[in-house]
Amino acid sequence: MSATTASRPGVLYVVATPIGNLGDLSPRAQETLRQVAAICAEDTRHTRQLLAHFGIEQALLALHEHNEDELADRLVARLQAGESLALVSDAGTPLVSDPGFRLVRAARAAGVRVSPVPGPSALIAALSVAGLPSDRFVFEGFLPAKAGARRDRLAALAGETRTLLFYESAHRIAETLADCVVAFGAARRAVLARELTKLFETVLDGSLAELQARVDADPNQRKGEFVLLLEGVGEDADAKVAEGRRLYAKLSAHLPPSAAAKLAAELSGAPRKALYGGGE
Ligand code: SAM
Repeated sequence: MSATTASRPGVLYVVATPIGNLGDLSPRAQETLRQVAAICAEDTRHTRQLLAHFGIEQALLALHEHNEDELADRLVARLQAGESLALVSDAGTPLVSDPGFRLVRAARAAGVRVSPVPGPSALIAALSVAGLPSDRFVFEGFLPAKAGARRDRLAALAGETRTLLFYESAHRIAETLADCVVAFGAARRAVLARELTKLFETVLDGSLAELQARVDADPNQRKGEFVLLLEGVGEDADAKVAEGRRLYAKLSAHLPPSAAAKLAAELSGAPRKALYGGGE
């Protein structure tokens, strides 16, 4: 790897960093971070601490959602001039609910090589231990902060057959679980992966109602960082009922309940009786 080869364009290395346990920074990630001309970091203080742990001294540039557009062109010019750069976020893989998308897109559009140095990501770490179907899954990132928008998003996902993954923070986990019970039914199988690779790592599994009860009863289970996973609905009867409930929720805003239920049942193929009540 050459940091300053004027004759050839540099490489933008997208480097994953630990999500808790510093031992997860790979040897290749360490080598890359040492050798590039500079590191673009979401929070330079945070990254400096990580680098200090590994005895790495490097130039750091702050690249976050507020300055990424403005900075991308200048960084691409440096890459084109032959400098190699690394992109990191505070934890895990850049671009996964983190900055970097605009820089990567600009670099690729300019014909600059963008190369991954893969490693930790909370979503894959959670999926790997959840024991839920993992051949096909959907990552939904963070749900909207506002209750109405969050509930709408969840209602739109009620018929999803693939495993669903969400990122969630400590101050909203209880509310999100309550909203999930309404959207997906109390019996839906779920996993809550908390503080992965850290001292208080816990992976809870059970029905949504069981997880909600555990989290409501124990304040420690509301601390830290979370990945929430939900099993998808079965392809057949469950999917029809979920779709029927989604349609019923929309239609009942405009029609009397009985007419909304009749129409939702016809459109979804679910039994009309199953569309009242919301539970499973
Ligand atoms: N780019 C990161 C990645 O690849 O996982 C994700 C960044 S996003 C801003 C931070 C969110 O990821 C947290 O709010 C939490 O939902 C999830 N997360 C990060 N670290 C985690 C951990 N150690 N255990 C569980 N979830 C974690």
